[in-house]
Parts: sequence; C-alpha cells; structure tokens
Amino acid sequence: MAQPAITVSDPWEMALEQFHRAARHVPLKKGIREFLAYPKRELTVNFPVKMDDGSVRIFTGYRVHHSTVLGPTKGGIRYHPDVTLNEVRALAMWMTWKCAIAGLPYGGAKGGVVCDPKQLSAGELERLTRRYATEISVFMGPESDIPAPDVGTNPQVMAWIMDTYSMHRGYSVPAVVTGKPVSVGGSVGREEATGLGCALVAREAARAVGLPLEGARVAVQGFGNVGSVAALTLQRMGAVVVAVSDSRGGVYHPRGLDPEALLRHKRAAGTVADFPDATHVSSTDILEVPCDILVPAALEGQITVENADRVRARLVIEGANGPTTPEADDRLRQRGVLVVPDVVANSGGVIVSYFEWVQDLQAFFWTEEEVRQRLERLLVRSFRDVWRTAQERGVDLRTAALVRAIERVADALYTRGIYP
Ligand code: GLU
Repeated sequence: MAQPAITVSDPWEMALEQFHRAARHVPLKKGIREFLAYPKRELTVNFPVKMDDGSVRIFTGYRVHHSTVLGPTKGGIRYHPDVTLNEVRALAMWMTWKCAIAGLPYGGAKGGVVCDPKQLSAGELERLTRRYATEISVFMGPESDIPAPDVGTNPQVMAWIMDTYSMHRGYSVPAVVTGKPVSVGGSVGREEATGLGCALVAREAARAVGLPLEGARVAVQGFGNVGSVAALTLQRMGAVVVAVSDSRGGVYHPRGLDPEALLRHKRAAGTVADFPDATHVSSTDILEVPCDILVPAALEGQITVENADRVRARLVIEGANGPTTPEADDRLRQRGVLVVPDVVANSGGVIVSYFEWVQDLQAFFWTEEEVRQRLERLLVRSFRDVWRTAQERGVDLRTAALVRAIERVADALYTRGIYP
C-alpha cells in the first residue's frame, strides 16, 4: 500500500516551526519571542546500571525544563531507544503550551532515557529508574518539577521515582511525581485520562464539524495506554473501530473490530498485529485506511509530506505528541482534513496529573466521578476556546492553540517582569 512514513524533520525543528507560525499572530515585545523559543535549562546525565548478568552498562538520560513562567515544570519521562536531546526539547516545549491551554499552573518539561525497556528485566528497569531519578534529582521536586509517565514508562516506574526521591528526603513525597499507582498517592482515573480525553476531544471535534459519532469509522495508530483507551471509549460512544496497530503491525476490518478482544489479544500475544479474521496492515499503512477519525497515538513524525495526501480521515485527533509535521499540517488543511493538535487532544493526561498533584499536596482524595467530571469540563472548555480562536483569527487549530498558550505565558511573563 504505502511507503513507510519518513520523519522528515527533527522534532525540535518541528516544535520551533509550529511556535514561530503561531507567534506571528501574537504581538510580542522584542526579545520575548526568542526567550520563549529557548528551553530554560537542560540536563544530560550518563550513568551506570548493574545488569542481571553482572556487567555494568552506561545509559544516557535527559531532563529539559522549557519554561517556568506559569509555575513548576510538568512533563513525562520517556524510555525509548530513539530518545534524543532534541526530541526531549520538543516534548518539553509542547508541555508548556499544553499546560497553558488547559489553564494549569505549570511550565513545560520532559525527560528521557535512551534504552529499550522491552529488553530490560524488571530488576534492571528498577535500578535504571532509581539511578536516573537520583541523577536528575537536582531538577526535580514537588514545587519545582513534577515528572509523569510517557512512552515506555508506567505507574510502577513512577512509584520507584517517588520512592527514590522520598528515601533521599527521609520522608514520603508523593507530589514529586504523578501517574503513580493509587496505593502510593496516585489519582483514580489518571491511567486512562489521556485516552479518555482523546475520545472526549474527538466527540467535541466531530460535533463541531457535524460528523455524527454514531457509526463513525475510527483508526488508531498505537494501541498502548492512550490508543487503546481512546478506541474503547470511542466505541462506547457509538463509533466503529476499523483499524488498530502497534509497533509490530496492525489490523483492519471495514465492518469493525472489537477493542476489548484486541486488548485481550494484545495482553496475551504482546501485539495486535496477528489478531485473527482481519486484514493485516503495517503500522504506517494504518494512517491511510478508509476512516472518518484517525487517532495517531504512537510517536512523532508519522504524518509527513510523504503520506499526508493519502490520509482519508476527516478528523485527525493527535493522541501522540507531534505526530504531524508542519508540512503535512499544510497538506491536510488544503484537503479539508481537520487536525486537532496534540496540545489539546492528549491534554487529558496532564490535566489529571494536575488533579493528582493537588490531591497529594492536600492529602485529600477525590472520587472517580469528581475526576472525570472535572476533566471533561476542562477539556471541553479548552477545545471550545481553541475552536473560537481559530474562527476569529482565521487560523488552523494548532496555530490557534499555540496562540492562546503563547498569550497566556507572555501575559504572565510581562506581569512578573524580567529579573533583575
Ligand atoms: N507524558 C504525558 C504528556 O505528554 C503526561 C505528562 C504529565 O502528566 O505530566 O502529556
């Protein structure tokens, strides 16, 4: 069917291009645009980990704080073999915009370790995590920088980070990290928040363009924490999941697949690629299957100039961070495909992370109902704000979202003033 998608631009170049496109629409004082384009601080750590076979391996990790204007920095930690400093920079900048759009009192950050977590034993993963947490501890704290899960990390990894930080302090500091298991101060509803948020945003976008969700065909690239929950939720809302994929491949069925059965298969077989009674598609072919709603929920740089013209969806809901390159954004817009950008579409995760942090700081916990209602309220408000801005300024949704974010950060910056 298709050529594999090629990442045509570096994620950091992508993030900068998106930023400059939006910044043109915001009257910024001289120097402020440049200030916002730079990460505030960056840490690179090289550290040893004892492997199960007795050898010692050196790993490289990063933590980047993009902006501290609106508050402490917030953002996940990624474990993936392709992690680079530029990727972490891009992800940190996107977190700044994401938090600002949702109205959270946070700046953006991101971390990453170059490793393949699938190739590490549980013991190796724990030792790597505890050592990385120790190495970046100068950058971390409940009032300064609060990590969370991202690609390749999960609640257990967050529990190890929380425990490591707490051991160094001598007392428990649950608010240092979010996305923890509920048993150690995590919030109910955090794990499914990103995928659930994606589905809620898809519902709002479908309503805005007059696409009935009932019977709408959905394709999901990346059947992980975000994509699987988005698929399940969209199906419950009446949509039909026609295709899903993970890093090993995917499946397509024009009459629909059962997301629950796919999840069971994925748990047992480790992949959805060999799910029975469906057509096999590759993890990039899936972007081109006939569907109404496409949810890229894997990695960045998936929809590029190479394949954008073959995307057949009407709506693209970005579950992943940075799945669409700026050039592909242009192509999709010209063809009338509406892209709901990552900084809105996947913001459900960091929104519930904020709820978790608030609950930890107050040591007072909410019910699942409260978490869900507050999440929905915030997400719907963000989506409508961005939609209105796009209409008023005659720009696409990504530019509108970034315009709103840049306005908020710049406003706080002017009010705080430049020190000294
Ligand atoms: N890693 C997630 C994201 O990209 C969540 C970040 C957080 O909860 O702090 O939005």
